[in-house]
Amino acid sequence: MTNPLRDALAAGRFCYVVELVASALTREARLLEAASGLARIPAVVAGSVTSYAGGAMGHDPLRVAAAARARGLTPNIHLTCVSQDRRGLAKSLDDMHALALENVFALTGDYPGARDQPPVFDLDSVQLVRLIDERRRGGMPFHVAVAVSPFKYTEADCVYQYVKLEKKIAAGADVAVTQVGWDAPKFAELKRYLDERGLRTPLLGNVYVLGPKTAERMATGRPPGCWVSPELLAAVQAESHASDGGRQARLERAARTVAILRGLGYAGAYVGGTHDAANIAWIIRRADELAPQWEALVPALGYGADGGFYLPARTLSKGAADEANARSRADRVPRLLDWLGHAFPVSRDTWLRRALTRVVEWIDRRKPAAALLERVELAIKKPLFGCQACGNCVLGHLEYVCPQTCPKQLRNGPCGGTDQGRCEVVPDKPCIWVAVYERARASGDLEALKTYVPAPDRQLSGTSSWINYFLDRDSRPTPDRH
Ligand code: SF4
Repeated sequence: MTNPLRDALAAGRFCYVVELVASALTREARLLEAASGLARIPAVVAGSVTSYAGGAMGHDPLRVAAAARARGLTPNIHLTCVSQDRRGLAKSLDDMHALALENVFALTGDYPGARDQPPVFDLDSVQLVRLIDERRRGGMPFHVAVAVSPFKYTEADCVYQYVKLEKKIAAGADVAVTQVGWDAPKFAELKRYLDERGLRTPLLGNVYVLGPKTAERMATGRPPGCWVSPELLAAVQAESHASDGGRQARLERAARTVAILRGLGYAGAYVGGTHDAANIAWIIRRADELAPQWEALVPALGYGADGGFYLPARTLSKGAADEANARSRADRVPRLLDWLGHAFPVSRDTWLRRALTRVVEWIDRRKPAAALLERVELAIKKPLFGCQACGNCVLGHLEYVCPQTCPKQLRNGPCGGTDQGRCEVVPDKPCIWVAVYERARASGDLEALKTYVPAPDRQLSGTSSWINYFLDRDSRPTPDRH
């Protein structure tokens, strides 16, 4: 069976993926009617079926996807870590394979609203890509899309997004889709970041057909990670006073964005905000007309944050990092712990490791002693790091920031929901990954952020990570998994 999305990307043919929001508010019949219309547009290579959009339950994405395919539209199914653990996700992949559905969009997912089921977040999006890749190696021909947001306006948020994308690519991502945004220099920045590193992973730029109601919501940062600047909000509101309610102006902005993406070398556009076939066909036609003059359109697509961070070329190069490091002061506790790790090495086969392993084996054979050690470990690490006794300690790989203090328990970098360095779930708190980034930068080791951190073995929760470490029971990065 052919896969138009995979084929278009492989052939370097500019393509369109249109989002079908399978929310509880949209009647399934309407979604499928839209799918039938989109299937008749040759440049549309897939319909992207959401799951849990904005943190709220919707229709079963697999059922919607299978029905869309029956109407001639190849689906791209969103698979999030919100409500399924690794077994559930593996089962969903098996179900997709059984239905011959290849395209999967691997996402962390938005934190659910208060009225929904408590979230799971057993895996993060990088671990999910690994899981899919393992299945692919087992003969299931999945095509994996991942998300990235260049529309982050603090250094830590922005650079970590790109670093995390590199991790997703290393884990097996085939294509990256941007978050919504209306800032051409940021679209260009992401493309340049990949080009500078020789990464050829195709990019789809998000082109959202923005009306006044959605603009108002996004101006307040909802859904998480989506942001509309005050200037763009004012422009959209002014347009909405036109006799057509601003429809034509919305479509024109979308077509101009597509033309810019083509000019920048993006592989395609990921269109949201409308799945009306007539609108999509108009955008495609108009973008074709505008393509030759794309550079003249760039200045008008500049709705970034005032004074926001833009990545200079090759920021992560050694010279630039050294210069930055000279200005930064290292955090004392992490540096002291690093020094201890070097002075008393236990991560490789040394006399100290062998001696400690023998002591730990002795303790492990005596249940009360093991329980006591677990309590001692927690008593030390809880006040220092907010330890939650997960039993699989990766503090040493994450600049001594405990990943269990992230509400989504991510281990490979921030989700896309951060807002100016603040957490999506607890907005009055800084995102924990800002501290990881700042410390890595201060110690001149930004490369270490690219280390893949596997999912914890949840069965070890409540046990001593020290015992698990010395007895090699825990789940932690190993050199061959970087
Ligand atoms: S990673 Fe696990 S063991 Fe380490 S500090 Fe965090 S909760 Fe505790």
